[in-house]
Amino acid sequence: RSPAKRFRPSEHRNTFDDVAGMEHAKRELQEVVEFLKDPAKFQRLGAQIPKGVLLMGPPGTGKTLMARATAGEAGVPFFSISGSEFIQMFVGVGASRVRDMFRTAKESAPSILFIDEIDAVGRVRGAGVGGGHDEREQTLNQILSEMDGFQQTEAVIVIAATNRPDVLDPALLRPGRFDRHVTVERPSREGRVGILKVHCRKVPLSDNVNLEEIAAGTTGFSGADLKNLVNEAALNATREGKDAVDSEDFDVARDKILMGAKREEILSE
Ligand code: ATP
Repeated sequence: RSPAKRFRPSEHRNTFDDVAGMEHAKRELQEVVEFLKDPAKFQRLGAQIPKGVLLMGPPGTGKTLMARATAGEAGVPFFSISGSEFIQMFVGVGASRVRDMFRTAKESAPSILFIDEIDAVGRVRGAGVGGGHDEREQTLNQILSEMDGFQQTEAVIVIAATNRPDVLDPALLRPGRFDRHVTVERPSREGRVGILKVHCRKVPLSDNVNLEEIAAGTTGFSGADLKNLVNEAALNATREGKDAVDSEDFDVARDKILMGAKREEILSE
């Protein structure tokens, strides 16, 4: 199989409009968008743009969404892989997959290459005790050498995401690699209102639904949790044969999600 077949850009399109809040991250990534839209302009002025951007933050806070929206804003292909996929690969496969991936992204440049869960391959090298770790290290070394090997003129921006920046091999963070760091936090109350609005865009809401109130009652929820909340509320309304989602559906959904979270806590104890 040709690498072009193995790595297809994602069909799913997002733009910054789909991302509520995260103003800081949007500002940081706006520069990447401008670069990908017109790489020659930057090159003419000799302006350097980072090759690698590291998005750091808790699970479900929209890192993948943000990376995809950056590609959508720039109108460039988005290639993505998760670090955890490499772990299941046979010896030597990880490194060659990395090579193919970079080659495909360069052939489609300007483009974005997204590596989710980079910590799965990017943990400090030599930390493991023998067996099984060589494969991971080879994969990591290949990522490092690919990043060193490509020129800015190739107009590929590599975005990586992690919720464990503390375990990353410092080699990944050196200049010329993932040297631009963007932190994303769990949303504030105001942020949660914005996220609820995005996910309620296509949901008919009853007059008694107050998104401000729902946001106030969902402290600690991530964007992914809020998306799930809206969906559970809509499912509940459907089950009950309603033609709009009301505040009771949101209460039921919230209890269900909080119950699930509690169960996970108990199981992990
Ligand atoms: P993980 O670390 O688990 O991979 P992540 O940070 O990459 O999580 P996403 O997968 O991007 O998070 O988020 C999951 C879903 O949550 C998104 O597809 C989106 O629907 C919703 N979401 C998260 N944050 C936001 C946001 N700021 N605005 C709108 N939707 C959001």
